[in-house]
Amino acid sequence: MIPLSEPSIGELESRYVQEALSSGWVSSSGEFVTEFEARIADALGAKFAVATSSGTAALHLALLASGVASGDEVLVPTLTFIAPANAVRYTGAHPVFIDADPSTWQMDVDRVTEFLEEHCERGNESTFNKKSGRRVVALLPVDVLGHPVDMDPLHSLAERFHLKIVEDATESLGATYRGRPVGNLGDVGCLSFNGNKLITTGGGGMIVTDDKRIADRSRHLSTQARVHLTEYIHDSVGYNYRMSNLAAALGCAQIERMSDFVSRKKSHAWLYEKAFEKLPQVSLMPRAEWADPVYWLYTIGLETHDPMAVQEELAAVGIHARPLWQPMHLSPAHADATHQGGEVAQRIYGRALSLPSSVDLSDGEIARVVNYVSKAVTA
Ligand SMILES: *Cc1c(COP(=O)(O)O)cnc(C)c1O
Repeated sequence: MIPLSEPSIGELESRYVQEALSSGWVSSSGEFVTEFEARIADALGAKFAVATSSGTAALHLALLASGVASGDEVLVPTLTFIAPANAVRYTGAHPVFIDADPSTWQMDVDRVTEFLEEHCERGNESTFNKKSGRRVVALLPVDVLGHPVDMDPLHSLAERFHLKIVEDATESLGATYRGRPVGNLGDVGCLSFNGNKLITTGGGGMIVTDDKRIADRSRHLSTQARVHLTEYIHDSVGYNYRMSNLAAALGCAQIERMSDFVSRKKSHAWLYEKAFEKLPQVSLMPRAEWADPVYWLYTIGLETHDPMAVQEELAAVGIHARPLWQPMHLSPAHADATHQGGEVAQRIYGRALSLPSSVDLSDGEIARVVNYVSKAVTA
């Protein structure tokens, strides 16, 4: 069996988790949590990092701490895993889904511009959607499949229209945008350490920011909004979104190995590209010249075959491939949301297939995947 994306767990992970167990600090505070936060902040060149119980929890808190409130609107790419769209809903706000850029598969900056210029009214301090009458408060770009979004033009738009940028870097940790690490390119960034991500804590996430108010607010909300150390006094409705010390111990081991993981992912991508270059039935994952992607899941486009059918053929020989997410503007979960375009995302969704991309995948296993994909598309 060749899995899609499996964590790499070794000696170091066992040692740190054992240390956490022996210390007795297994729950929501402890030295590993503090250490893991410091390491992530350092890796991304950020002033603050707040560990959370999941990437989705990080997104929820990042939105709240950025001032997103019930009845607001937030721009989200339609081509994404559903978590960021759901996080917008948790705040009571409404997602507006933006089509994908065919040259990067990321949120299309031109469509964002179009939406803001044509459908919104810019005031002195805020922006309103002319049709819905709602306040438009934030952009939530997602670095889909490990490729960064084009952030500089989003910053110009955010400034012009008084918007916050919440960056979903859950799939792109380890990638760089114009030489800068992703994750701290917006007002606040979110990471995930789910088992299928670049590094894992079993389950967990992180909020990364240079803004002390956002960091403080996020941490406060993640600990039930408690305002007193010994008494149970809370100043608002908070959440239990903390990461456990046990999970953070795993994270500390993983981050020590992260640069090796990044090299492995890039080497897998290179092997896939070399093999599929020659096959006209397969198109390669796009890459912008300003991006150094981390290739979290190497994803091909099938020009002649149905990805679901090829996925089944691969499954029959023990290879786990996966289609992309149903675009959000087509999702029954978000059926009432508005969208700006969506045809490009739909076209990508209809062709894309993610291939096994685990860090520990061997060159022989990649050759086996290539062999069966080639067979399936030339049959
Ligand atoms: C994995 C992921 C998340 C959040 O993941 P959790 O499983 O909640 O840690 C959020 N956004 C995207 C795009 C993801 O791929």
